[in-house]
Amino acid sequence: MAREVEKVVIIGSGCAGYTAALYSARANLKPLVLTGAMPGGLLTTTSIVENYPGFPEGVDGTDLMIRMQQQAERFGARVEFGSAVESVDFSSHPFRLTVDGAEVRALTVIIATGAGHRHLDLESEAALEKKGVTYCATCDGALPMFRNQPLVVVGGGDSACEEATYLTRFASRVYLVHRRGQLRASQIMAQRVLDSDKIEPVWDSVVTEVLDVAQDKVTAVRLKNLKTQGDRTIDCAGLFVAIGHVPNTQLFKGQIAMDEAGYVARREGAQTSVPGVFVAGDCSDHVYRQAITAAGMGCQAAIEAERFLGQQNL
Ligand code: NAP
Repeated sequence: MAREVEKVVIIGSGCAGYTAALYSARANLKPLVLTGAMPGGLLTTTSIVENYPGFPEGVDGTDLMIRMQQQAERFGARVEFGSAVESVDFSSHPFRLTVDGAEVRALTVIIATGAGHRHLDLESEAALEKKGVTYCATCDGALPMFRNQPLVVVGGGDSACEEATYLTRFASRVYLVHRRGQLRASQIMAQRVLDSDKIEPVWDSVVTEVLDVAQDKVTAVRLKNLKTQGDRTIDCAGLFVAIGHVPNTQLFKGQIAMDEAGYVARREGAQTSVPGVFVAGDCSDHVYRQAITAAGMGCQAAIEAERFLGQQNL
């Protein structure tokens, strides 16, 4: 039997997706949330979240996401775990999605697929993730394991400079490892790094190994200088990888407008180039990328989906 046409389908289950689910559920729209392969989104890859308002002691990232899920379900959101959206067709209305081989039709769609941290793609990096390797200084920088310790940041863009500067509050020393001899970051951010007496740039260098997998924690990084081919090891308690993000938007290529990097173009509020398709969170935001901003955008998207349905008498 064909499924009924859904009023709101939310693709993604991070802060943006679950907040959209909460608001549209409370508007009695019984949203369907397709969690994708990473239920709870990127926040589940971090440990304690200390900058989400309302949790003075901090909150475990996974716990926060489970709470958001439960809050949305309490008002009637239906969460389908692990469901993979294989394709979308926004060319006619209702929109059509292929989910695990079956067709789902939707009057509105909220895209909240997030973004992934770009990785160095080293085996030792993967083995030590959450054990000293992290992708978010704002989330993890203040953890006790990093306090008064030497730390290494990789990258040369605004993110890397921002993270390195932020980490100077906690670290004994910050090494900024960049593969070229010049920062890509905006001048003001770059200057802040270059002026800091706590940050030491390490130019023309790439990380070749994170030590020490045998000890199950970060103790140092091994670097190669691309100009001299010389090796160097820097002792550190943490490696902060800040080499950019990759929005999870492959699925929507050719269906909605995106910028060159693949971030969904957001029109007024949460609108996309297709009326009835809305967007929220990191898949459309390369500037703020915070749990709270993603949640705010999820709220906007849900309110706009509700208005769209009202205006169209759907
Ligand atoms: P980005 O500008 O793309 O910079 C990524 C950096 O990582 C580049 O320096 C790049 O090196 C390096 N990199 C990429 N792949 C690498 C690899 N495999 N190994 C080693 N290094 C690698 O990314 P971002 O810094 O995350 O910034 C993204 C956007 O957000 C930008 O538009 C930025 O302005 C914005 N942003 C703004 C703020 C702010 O205004 N407060 C803060 C953060 C980000 P190359 O330079 O050699 O390419």
